Order: sequence, then C-alpha cells, then structure tokens
Amino acid sequence: MDVANLRINGNRLQQSLEEMAKIGATSRGGVTRLALSDEDKQARDLFVKWLKEIDCEITIDDMGSIFGTLPGSENNLPSVMSGSHIDSQPRGGRFDGILGVMGALEILRTIRENNIQINRPVTAVAWTNEEGTRFSPAMIASGVWAGSLKKDYAYNRTDPDGKRFEGELIRIGYKGPSPAKRWPVHAYYEYHIEQGPVLESKNRIIGVPKGIVNLNWYDIYIEGESNQAGPTPMVNRHDSLVAASEMIIAANEIPNKFGGDLVTTVGRIDNEPNSVNIIPGQTHFTFDIRSWNDGLTQRALDNLLPLFKDIADKRGCIVRIEETWRVKHSPFDPKLVRIVNDSAIKLGFDPLEMTSGAGHDAAYINQVAPTAMIFVPSIGGRSHVEIENTTWEDCKAGADVLLQCMLQSANEA
Ligand SMILES: [Zn+2]
Repeated sequence: MDVANLRINGNRLQQSLEEMAKIGATSRGGVTRLALSDEDKQARDLFVKWLKEIDCEITIDDMGSIFGTLPGSENNLPSVMSGSHIDSQPRGGRFDGILGVMGALEILRTIRENNIQINRPVTAVAWTNEEGTRFSPAMIASGVWAGSLKKDYAYNRTDPDGKRFEGELIRIGYKGPSPAKRWPVHAYYEYHIEQGPVLESKNRIIGVPKGIVNLNWYDIYIEGESNQAGPTPMVNRHDSLVAASEMIIAANEIPNKFGGDLVTTVGRIDNEPNSVNIIPGQTHFTFDIRSWNDGLTQRALDNLLPLFKDIADKRGCIVRIEETWRVKHSPFDPKLVRIVNDSAIKLGFDPLEMTSGAGHDAAYINQVAPTAMIFVPSIGGRSHVEIENTTWEDCKAGADVLLQCMLQSANEA
C-alpha cells in the first residue's frame, strides 16, 4: 500500500485516551496522576500491556522511562522515537503528555496492523516525571537520559512528604534494569497539545514549533523592617511587601514596554511575618521571563533588575536578586521541522509556524538528537487544569501528521 494514504485509527486513539483518563480521574473531568504514584503505576501498566499486545520489544530504564520498539528491516540503524509523559499536574488535564504517548502507541499499532515495511526501528516512549510537581525539577528522566542531569541527583529528589524518588520508583516496580543513558536516535518527534490559545485564535489545527523559548528564573529577596502596625507612622516604614508589590507591577509591565513575544510571571510570594498587625519585614517572590529572542530578554532584564534596586531604595529596603535558571532559546532540527510542516500540508492542513512557550521532554532530547514537535489546539487555551480539552478530530489530525513524519524518517537510509 502507498503509505501516503495510510491513516491512524481515530476511534482507537480516542478509546485509549478515554481509558487512560479513568486512571486518577477527578470530579470535573481532569486527572491527578502524579509521578510515581499508584495512579502513575496503573497507567504505566496499561501502556506496557498495550505495547505487549503488538509484540513490541519493551525496555524499562532505571529512571522508569518505558520504551516500546517495533523492529525495522535494518535494526542496527538508529531508531525513530516518539513519545511524551504519563504523569500529570494535581487536578490537571487528560491530554497533556498522555496524548503524545497514546499518539506514538497509535503509530506503532497502525504500522503493525498494516504490515508496513520500515527500514529503521520505531520506538514509543513514556518519560518519567515530566511535570516536576511531586518531584522537582521537571523533565527529570529525559534530562538524565540525555546526560544533562545526574542520576544520583534525580534519585535523591524528595516529594513534600520526604519520600525519595528512587524509593518510589522501586515501590511502583518501575526501576528497570537498563541504565538511563542515551542511545543513537535518528529522529525524535513529540506530539503535544499546544497549552496556549494561538492555534485556536488563528483557526489552525496543526502547529509546528520551530523550537522552545528561552527560560529565565529569578528569586527576589527583599529585606525591610518589621514593626507594629499602629504606632509606626507611614513615613518611617521599610515595608518589604509594598516594595515587592511595586516590583511585581514593574515586572508585569515589562512585556508591554519591550514588545515582541516576551512574557513575565510572578508565580509565588512568601511574606514574613505575614501577620495582620505587623509591617512586613521580609518578602520573597519568584520571577519568570521568557521569549524566543535571547537579546530581547537580556534588554528587558537590564532594564528591570536595576528598577528593582531603585524601588527597594525608595522604600528603604534591601533587595537581593538571585538567578536560579537560565536556558537559551532552543531551535529544533530544521530538517525535522520541515518534515512536520510538509506532512501537515500533504494531509490538507494549513500548519502554523510557532514557538513552544512551555518546556517539554523534547527540550532535553533536542540537545542530543534531531528533534521536532507537533501541536494541536487546546480549547480556550487552557491547560494544567481539569477543563483542559482538545477535540477528538484534532487529536486524530495531529496523530496522522505524526504517522507521516515517523514513516518518512523511518524509511530514510
Ligand atoms: Zn506535557
């Protein structure tokens, strides 16, 4: 058969996603499937069962990542890999991550049932702990696999109850025998929901990210002076929370000032002593700034960080600024991005070139193997919430694009 006419089975993909959505289901239609929890184990067991049904060779590495491989005619050639993650946020959505795992499984099922001849082996993968909610940081297993994170570091991460990552991995039976270490991959495709509103607003079905934006995190510590709320006149105050408030507004205004695709977020604040009748003396907040343009991000920071100092001075406070994470923008492999784009066009879609504003396992794999992603719309742009949704039609569309991409790469000499 001409593989250009081959399509995935949309009903089967929907059924698989619906089965998975039962595991850790929440009352409002989402899922809670935290990494290395009982629900994570249950979903992994189901994925492994489905891989076995199509006679995949299954490898589980010692970070718990699951690889299911179908052989090609030349098995010594590096494989074509696709996948994402099974874990979710607390009360998260039923598409984030799992769509990419079920999508890759659906490609393998389609190849198997149609007896499609491929040169290279094809692999479906589920990476452990992408979300980083229970065990920080995010994307820990793909990070170890790619050699960017140390395994000992990962094993010693603890959850809020003090349970070790490695202990929980053993408890659910997924500390596999093979070392989590990269092997040669010819192409890695990650299929994922967009998690933003762009595709929907432009009425497009397939998004083709050219890469992942830069990511910069800061901790801002402000030292003021705690004092009694009643007797201290306004003029004599060194109120760290008021200083923080001004800084947060300034941070929020920066994208407007500098334009482009800059986004800034203050997502967390801690205040001391946090009491109704005491002037705050110590305030800490986090600051997240992202853009595709590293230079633009730097110019924005060069403007904002001195502004934080001025605000602290004006309020009689001291500010300490700590950079905690800095990752440059990371372009995907141009050839693979083109394959995604061309495959979408051949299937009759009008693909949209875009960037990924969120981190994904693809970010680590991109450092060691040719990588690209495929996005489909998130209804209302909502993700990491229970009402996260994508139409079944769009789920099928993205998987059809993935199928064509994987077949093309798998048949390359
Ligand atoms: Zn995800």
